[in-house]
Amino acid sequence: MKRYLLNFLFLFFFVSMQSQELVRKSFEKMGSLFEISVVADNLEQGNQAILKGIAEIERIEKLISSWDKDSETSKINLMAGIRYVVVSDELFNLIKRSVLISELTNGAFDISYASADKVWEFRGQSIRMPDSVSVAESVANIGYKKVILDENKKSVFLPRKGMKIGFGAIGKGYAADKVRELLEREGISAGLVNASGDMTAWGTQNNGDPWSIGIINPLDKTKVFSWFPLQHQAVVTSGDYERFVLIDSVRYGHIINPKTGYPSKGILSTTVFAPKAEIADALSTAIFVMGHEVGLHLINQLPNIEALVITDKGKVLTSNNIKLDEDK
Ligand code: AMP
Ligand code: MG
Repeated sequence: MKRYLLNFLFLFFFVSMQSQELVRKSFEKMGSLFEISVVADNLEQGNQAILKGIAEIERIEKLISSWDKDSETSKINLMAGIRYVVVSDELFNLIKRSVLISELTNGAFDISYASADKVWEFRGQSIRMPDSVSVAESVANIGYKKVILDENKKSVFLPRKGMKIGFGAIGKGYAADKVRELLEREGISAGLVNASGDMTAWGTQNNGDPWSIGIINPLDKTKVFSWFPLQHQAVVTSGDYERFVLIDSVRYGHIINPKTGYPSKGILSTTVFAPKAEIADALSTAIFVMGHEVGLHLINQLPNIEALVITDKGKVLTSNNIKLDEDK
């Protein structure tokens, strides 16, 4: 009887596993391509969950966008040098965590990099080298230590006119985490949120296989040079191959060194694995600025975080616990 029951339970488990459906949708939000995949009981449940995920991304965009002049972030920027702006707990906490990551990375990651947006516009076009006076002016307005946070009033003040904050290096990772949290709360036991290369996964695919991600070789974008299983964690890649400018035929990517005001050079792409996409996103940008040696040294001291760096010489370097699987 016991064995019969066990067999029955096993069969039930097997059948219910098999009947799960993989539902997937791609769409554009936050100026980027997103894809949400969920393992659901049926198509209807999967589609409903994805719609809630999309609404969550829209909600976050309203909070953090620098383009939307009504966002809380734009209000902070508009009032730079004028006054404090009271914001939601959610944005206040995101700014607080951003400042902590600035401290961790010695200012390589810095949301106040954004005053450099006035000098640099990365659309793949050829430009002349910006004049050094404008660059120096933007640097004077950069510095996470200048951002004033009033914990009691949940208000933020950028004390210099021309100062600006931007969440380009952390916002997509944050959105991916929030969508995942929401879907898990909705009872979705497995899924993958891909925010233009900022990914977080939980559970397994509907055939029981782990989610798998391929790291593209930035020197030959048609090739994946390594595959990694992704289980209950996030992976984020920063690259300079999409947003850049050409100056005298030399490529300059969109990640700014906050100390110089110029685009950082030396790295083609960085990939960071972490429990949360938010920290992976911020660190992948920071390593670009820190350089591969200092960057990987930092990663090796952080628990549960790993990184892979491709230098502009085509060298692939990894933190201590990554094994490359180039033959797959
Ligand atoms: P990611 O693709 O996550 O590496 O983010 C790059 C984006 O972050 C850029 O397009 C800018 O919007 C912004 N950004 C550039 N430099 C920095 C920096 N040093 N710290 C924080 N954000 C930055
Ligand atoms: Mg980033």
